[in-house]
Amino acid sequence: MEVTLVLLGIAQDGGVPHAGCSCARCMAAHAEPSLRRHPVACGIRGSDGSLHLLEASRSLPDQMRLWAEVLGAEGVVNPDSVSLTHVHLGHIDGLGQFGNEVMGCSELPLFASASVLEELANRKALGPFNATDAAPMERFSPSEGCGFEMELVPVPHRDEYADTHAVIIRGPSRSALFLPDHDDWDQTLGGHGASSIRQWLSDLEVDIALLDGSFWDSSELSGRDMSEIPHPTVTETIARLGERVEGDVEIHFIHLNHSNPLLGKGLEAEELSDLGWQVATQGQQFAL
Ligand SMILES: [Zn+2]
Ligand SMILES: [Zn+2]
Repeated sequence: MEVTLVLLGIAQDGGVPHAGCSCARCMAAHAEPSLRRHPVACGIRGSDGSLHLLEASRSLPDQMRLWAEVLGAEGVVNPDSVSLTHVHLGHIDGLGQFGNEVMGCSELPLFASASVLEELANRKALGPFNATDAAPMERFSPSEGCGFEMELVPVPHRDEYADTHAVIIRGPSRSALFLPDHDDWDQTLGGHGASSIRQWLSDLEVDIALLDGSFWDSSELSGRDMSEIPHPTVTETIARLGERVEGDVEIHFIHLNHSNPLLGKGLEAEELSDLGWQVATQGQQFAL
């Protein structure tokens, strides 16, 4: 069986519709369920059919159905393991669903950095899980025989409670980088001794990069101080990348804030695709 990654959500932590927001996009999503977007998460099916969830968002029930639907399965998926990048809201607010109040799991394998696990233990959030800490830049298998490996890649991200990692998923034919959140390119690239995004992605030996595309540009959030929520904007990322050339990795932007015009079909999405880069879609599949 092919190792398959399914994108179970493409939105930033708040999802679409976003709490407290009456913008046109959020109101349209209230009216029309097909316009709703879940917070980011990936579902990876191993070559032995085992199912591994990356990020546990509050949209878990819908995401477990979406995952089954994309794989052509009946019912919903029950994951065999969960892995996490960091402890910000949208990445962990589904963890409680695995506990007694809902699914009643015990000993479900959970993988994250030592600092993330320590913070979750302090919050008494590890009850349903058998947690294993994964060392940065070291490959691990979320289950024996799953036919792929994962690897945590440290990235800077206003780490108030615990650290943050991107995750590489290495399948038998292709590897994907999942980088939903980081503060800025200079720090991320500097931390890994890379001089450009291209060089870093090539050092990491990935074929597909799912990159933080939270905001299109810095004018997007009126009324919020953007320095409180730092992310490289998509305009900055594509200015650094320029046009896609032969041999480049595939880049798909994820973690889109409800305010991001890439959620629509306007000029911004056109500008991106003219350069050869993409906006990820919810339910999109990647064979690894
Ligand atoms: Zn996030
Ligand atoms: Zn909105």
